[in-house]
Amino acid sequence: MRPRTPATRGRAPARAAWAIAAALLVAVLIAACASEPEDPVFRRQIFTLGTVVDISLYDTEGPLAEEAIRAVEDVLNGIHRQWHAWEPSELTRLNDALAAGETAQVTHDTATVLRDARALAAASGQLFNPAIGALVHLWGFHSSERPAGPPPDPEAVRALVEDGPDMDDLVIDGRNISSRHPGVRLDLGAFAKGWGVDLAVEALRTHGITSAIVNAGGDLRAIGSHGDRPWRIGVRDPGGSGAIFASLETRTDESVFTSGGYERFFEYGGRRYHHILDPRDGYPAQHTLSVTVIREKAADADAAATALFVAGPDEFGSVAARMGVTHAMLVDADMKVYITPDMAERVRFEVMPVPEVVLVEPAP
Ligand code: AMP
Ligand code: MG
Repeated sequence: MRPRTPATRGRAPARAAWAIAAALLVAVLIAACASEPEDPVFRRQIFTLGTVVDISLYDTEGPLAEEAIRAVEDVLNGIHRQWHAWEPSELTRLNDALAAGETAQVTHDTATVLRDARALAAASGQLFNPAIGALVHLWGFHSSERPAGPPPDPEAVRALVEDGPDMDDLVIDGRNISSRHPGVRLDLGAFAKGWGVDLAVEALRTHGITSAIVNAGGDLRAIGSHGDRPWRIGVRDPGGSGAIFASLETRTDESVFTSGGYERFFEYGGRRYHHILDPRDGYPAQHTLSVTVIREKAADADAAATALFVAGPDEFGSVAARMGVTHAMLVDADMKVYITPDMAERVRFEVMPVPEVVLVEPAP
């Protein structure tokens, strides 16, 4: 037997220990891979509708996923081009015709979206009013630049609000559109994103996709689930910090839309003026920081979020009832939360301290 020196006696057990440790590490890694498979969600971001649109597909990848994403991109780009409120589009051509007192023939899609918007505007008591394009323009929000103010001349605001137009002034005869009110200028800024998200989901379904989220800058429709658990989504801080304020799990097919004053605004003379206007006085709606609505269709959620934002805390319950909204949450200027009982059951607040909450039953 070869005599062992103390040195070799020491090295051999050390080598063995390393080998055991390495084997253990490999085993742990294999076990980790087995218990936590790779996230089966295919994610892609596209830039359209003036925002980043996040598309998540569960258990779909490869060429089918790529093709589905392209279809969504086509649909959303189409809407962006067709209904842009200030860059030349079918909508601006229609607005020019209405300004000239003419009848314009529009595409079937445009006639359909206007009919739908008109019905939702009526249900909201005209708080959601896509006919106030002239007012939005007067406030300087029809611009690809960051609006800077100053706020418009109060007389000019008053002139547009007195006997102001609404969607009921629109005459929709098949594809022929005219207006009984010379002041109607259409702006689908509060509605087209929802319409687009619905079409995007339809495009995914055409590709056989049953579990996905189309998230357009925080406004989304979620279908199916994340495997055996629901999709979990976040609602942004109404103060505009970008932090998550609340979270909720979506059911099989639901849209979650938020209207927030933080999304577009300018500051002038120490005051903030945001982009959601109260058609009754022509000024940015007071008292509300944000409204989140859950509905099945994204277009319905989009219109309702805008309407409830304008409604404010006092009319939140009555406007929700008029629009048939059961799940809605409004955060007021003091960060107080007004929430329908059905919505309260779904929302988890992610901020400390938990905000003060007032339950509001949708009721006339
Ligand atoms: P949203 O973020 O969906 O609430 O939409 C806000 C956008 O809709 C604004 O940027 C305007 O283009 C337009 N808008 C502003 N006020 C109203 C209103 N009361 N009704 C309908 N559209 C509006
Ligand atoms: Mg909206």
